[in-house]
Amino acid sequence: MILDGKKTADKIKAKLIERVAALSKQNIVPKLAIYWVGDDSASQVYIEQKQKMATAIGAECEVRKYEGDVKLEKLLSDIGSDNQDNAVHGIIVQLPLPDQLDKNQLIQAIDPAKDVDGLHAVNQWKLLSGQPGLVPATAKGIMTLLADNEIDLAGKKAVMVGRSNLVGLPTALSALNRNATVTICHSYSKNLPGECQLADILITAIGQPGLITAEYVKARAVVIDVGITRTDDGISGDVDFAAVKDKVAAITPVPGGIGPMTVVSLWDNLLEAIEK
Ligand code: NDP
Repeated sequence: MILDGKKTADKIKAKLIERVAALSKQNIVPKLAIYWVGDDSASQVYIEQKQKMATAIGAECEVRKYEGDVKLEKLLSDIGSDNQDNAVHGIIVQLPLPDQLDKNQLIQAIDPAKDVDGLHAVNQWKLLSGQPGLVPATAKGIMTLLADNEIDLAGKKAVMVGRSNLVGLPTALSALNRNATVTICHSYSKNLPGECQLADILITAIGQPGLITAEYVKARAVVIDVGITRTDDGISGDVDFAAVKDKVAAITPVPGGIGPMTVVSLWDNLLEAIEK
C-alpha cells in the first residue's frame, strides 16, 4: 500500500476550510506571523508554501522580514507585541537563522499558546509528559497519516532514525504516546541496518537520499520516509523506494507523502490554538 499523503492532506484541507469559515462567523480570521531573518533561499520556498495554503483556506499569513544583521532585542520586542495582539494566533520563527542569533532565545519568547511549530519548552514538555499541546507539524502529520490509514502503533516496535528537535524527537515521543515501543537512532548508532530491521514501523528523517535500502527493512513493515533532499534527479527521500516498496506492507512516497501532511498540520495547529 502506498500511503498517499496528498490524499489525506486534501481531506484535512477541506476540513480546515470549513473550520476557518466557522470562525469567520465569529469575526475571527486566523492569522499566522512568520519571522524571517536574512535571505535563506530554502526558507523563501517554505514561506511561500505557507502563504499559498493560507490563501487556499481563507487564513492570513503575515511575513515579518528582517535584514540578517537585525538586533535580537528588536525581534524580541516584535514577538512580544505579537504575543499581546489578539488578532495574531500563531507565531513562527523561520529556521535557519543567521549565526549571530540564538534561535532558542527567540522561540522561548513566543507565547506557548501561539507556538504553532511546537518548539517552545512548554509544548515540548507537554509532549514529553503525554499531555495535549501544540506538536511539531511533521510529527503530527505522520501520526495523522497513520491513523487515516488505520495503522495503529500500540504494541508495535517503532524505530525512528533521526533525533532533531523539529522532526525526529517529537515523532518518537508521539509514537511513544501512542504506546509503541520506540527506538531512536542517529549518526552514532551502531548497526543501523540491524536496528531498522526490527521495526514494525520504520520512520526516517535523516536527509541522506536512498540510505535506507531493502536490507534495512523487515518484510511487511510500514515505512515512513520524511527525508527531503534536492538532487540532480529531483526530490529524493531517505528510502530507496524502488528497492523497498515490494517488500513492505505500506510506504510513503517522496514527494507526495509526509510533505503535504506537514503543510496542513501547521494550519491544523493554528486552528487548534484558536479553538482552545
Ligand atoms: P537534521 O539534520 O536536524 O537531523 C538529521 C538527523 O539524522 C540527525 O539526528 C542525525 O544524527 C541523523 N543522521 C544523519 N546521518 C545519519 C546516518 N548516516 N545514520 C543515522 N542517522 C543519521 O534534519 P531534520 O530532522 O530537520 O530533517 C531530516 C530530513 O527530513 C531532511 O531531509 C529534511 O529536509 C526532511 N524534512 C522533511 C519534512 C517534510 O515535511 N517531509 C519536514 C522537515 C524536514 P545526529 O543527531 O547524530 O547528527
